Amino acid sequence: MRGLAGEKTLLKRLNRAAILRLVWEQPGISRSAVAGKIGITKSTVSQLVAELELERWLSSGAGGAGNAPGRPSIPLSLNADRLVLIGVELGLESINAVAVDPFGRVLAQSTVTGGHSHVEVALEQLAKALTTLRSSPALAERTLLGMGVGVPGPVDVGRGLLLHAPNQGWKNIPIQQMISQQHPDIPRVFVDNDANLAAFAEYMFGAHKHSADLLYLYLNDGIGGGLILEHGLYRGRLGFAGEVGHMNVLPDGPRCSCGSRGCAETLLSWRSVQGAVKNLTGTEMSVLEMLKAMRGGNEALRRAIQQTGTYLGIFLGSLANIFDPQVLIVGGPIADLGEAILEPALLEMKQRMFGAEFRSVTVKRCAFSTNACAIGAAGYAFHDLLQNKSADLPRLE
Ligand SMILES: [Zn+2]
Repeated sequence: MRGLAGEKTLLKRLNRAAILRLVWEQPGISRSAVAGKIGITKSTVSQLVAELELERWLSSGAGGAGNAPGRPSIPLSLNADRLVLIGVELGLESINAVAVDPFGRVLAQSTVTGGHSHVEVALEQLAKALTTLRSSPALAERTLLGMGVGVPGPVDVGRGLLLHAPNQGWKNIPIQQMISQQHPDIPRVFVDNDANLAAFAEYMFGAHKHSADLLYLYLNDGIGGGLILEHGLYRGRLGFAGEVGHMNVLPDGPRCSCGSRGCAETLLSWRSVQGAVKNLTGTEMSVLEMLKAMRGGNEALRRAIQQTGTYLGIFLGSLANIFDPQVLIVGGPIADLGEAILEPALLEMKQRMFGAEFRSVTVKRCAFSTNACAIGAAGYAFHDLLQNKSADLPRLE
């Protein structure tokens, strides 16, 4: 049972985390504004800030004029240059590891390429990537706060279990425990689905950060979806939420690997778009080559991309009808086709959305390109620390 002293310690821990979170969200915020937002006295804030300054988490700037008369307000800031988080995407073809500061700025990056069908081999490659990453001079003098790892399949987050990675053939892998045991010096290790974490990059660091309802679609070899609903990642009961690749887009469309026809994956995955373009032009093209050919007047290609955009719009319209999001983010190579695909998609989505005249859903391409999952993984580790549910803030070096 928790006694009165325990309650006090818990309350203090939560207040410390809340202060840190506010200063992170609003750099330059004053002590009195923090007190007002959290609903505690100014003297408590001053005392806790003094502790956080001693522990080197926060700094006070020079006193500004402030808006109110009387004593000038002193801006508070997070010592971001002392902190680092690691994020990893454990992909099918490569492992991408990034080190970021608490604002999502990439400090160092290490990528190991080469397929890995065995989980042990993948983890060996992860260890290599981490060794290179952590030896970067950009990380010297910074305290590592935690690491997030994105994996290509649904995850039972509570048990740290990768349930199924179909392309690798992995099932029920206790991946969080395996990684933690291999890297005991990394204080917190989190594992989650890759698209969930890519969505989290947008939520923590993107142009629409802190949007309560944000959907992220990762259109790559397959299609993954990350759902931020009411400010939290929505994983469903077992971690399978957001597996939207097999939603129907065209009833009599191409046959899908799942046995059905016209699933989103058969029309909107990068593989299928590239295949369709190859059938049309006779050559396999990169995104840049497609854009160049369209600019050069390849009318058939332009129409094909426009048609793909229309399919994307049907897909987005269905998702908007289910979730009523504020923002829909499209990531993966297809998003790099930019307006050529997003413009017809937006047009079609609006026609398919119920009550479109009352709603403003923004459709954007992902801001983090190929680093989305890794940056989001790092962001997730920081988010957990700011929630401070499990333990007090770690000591900084
Ligand atoms: Zn399917």
